[in-house]
Amino acid sequence: MKPFAYVRATTLQEATAAHAGRPGSRYLAGGTNLVDLMKLGVERPATLVDLARLPLSGIEELPDGTLRIGGTARNSDTAAHPLVRARHPVLAQALLAGASAQLRNVATTGGNLLQRTRCPYFQDVSTACNKREPGSGCAARDAVHRDHAVLGHSAHCIATHPSDLAVALVALDADIELYGGQGTRTVPAASFHRLPGEQPEQDTVLQHGEIVTAVLVPPAPGALSLYRKARERASYAFALASVAAVLESGPDGRVVRRVALAFGGLAHRPWRATTAEARLTGAEPTAEAVREAVEAELAQARPLRDNAYKVALARNLACDVLAALARQAQDGPPRTP
Ligand code: SF4
Repeated sequence: MKPFAYVRATTLQEATAAHAGRPGSRYLAGGTNLVDLMKLGVERPATLVDLARLPLSGIEELPDGTLRIGGTARNSDTAAHPLVRARHPVLAQALLAGASAQLRNVATTGGNLLQRTRCPYFQDVSTACNKREPGSGCAARDAVHRDHAVLGHSAHCIATHPSDLAVALVALDADIELYGGQGTRTVPAASFHRLPGEQPEQDTVLQHGEIVTAVLVPPAPGALSLYRKARERASYAFALASVAAVLESGPDGRVVRRVALAFGGLAHRPWRATTAEARLTGAEPTAEAVREAVEAELAQARPLRDNAYKVALARNLACDVLAALARQAQDGPPRTP
């Protein structure tokens, strides 16, 4: 590993000043992805600015009912928080699907959102990768790419984003709070990650030196939510496809008042299924209506040579998740032992 300087910041101002004043700086939170990438030679920071001492680990309810989850809140603390579990089960489920307990005990909100793709060519410095080295090419396109994107990919990159948390936040209409040289700003979770286009090296709209200080999850009274993920093995692995859904129904549970649907594992960012949502809003969520809506969304898919299976997988997952939520809306949530 290349030698690097280490700065431990205790305030946001200290952290951004240290980052801005040292070329080649990276922020360090849990380090569960960054340190791995440093060992592989993919990341070669001159300085690490450690954010662990910043007062950003709280999880609190704001006066309007918004849940504010700090940027350095541990994923395990967020998944176990009573308000998260009671109000936004999709968020807890996504976090619990995301990694082992050991990793969740260290990984943070901001780090989870900013983790890099697990495309094997990105992690192998001997191969061409536009995300790691802009302009070098994309080794995945003509090689092994069954885990890669079917939606929104470009000639420059076909990678997927690995975060489960991000998918749930998009379905929950959350905002990401950022702090940088210009002060604080918020970005909708749905706009935080980018499609690759011609600049796959940029995963997000984060500006140089900005820190994820919190995520803001708005209240959704009466909404039901669910996360489901398909992966290669039963133990922890990244999503081949995943679905986060939030459903609000009419009084008898038979009409969709509002639905939010997001896919993971299919694109360079969580994929908000706006076409499917528009078709289902105001409709009765019959199996046929749900399938038609999901298929209309996935008609945009452009599978690669080896990953057409993802389209059917995502369709079946989404249909199952929406059917489960529709049943809950009519019968009440399942009892936990
Ligand atoms: Fe790199 Fe993206 Fe191609 Fe993977 S898919 S090799 S991350 S450019």
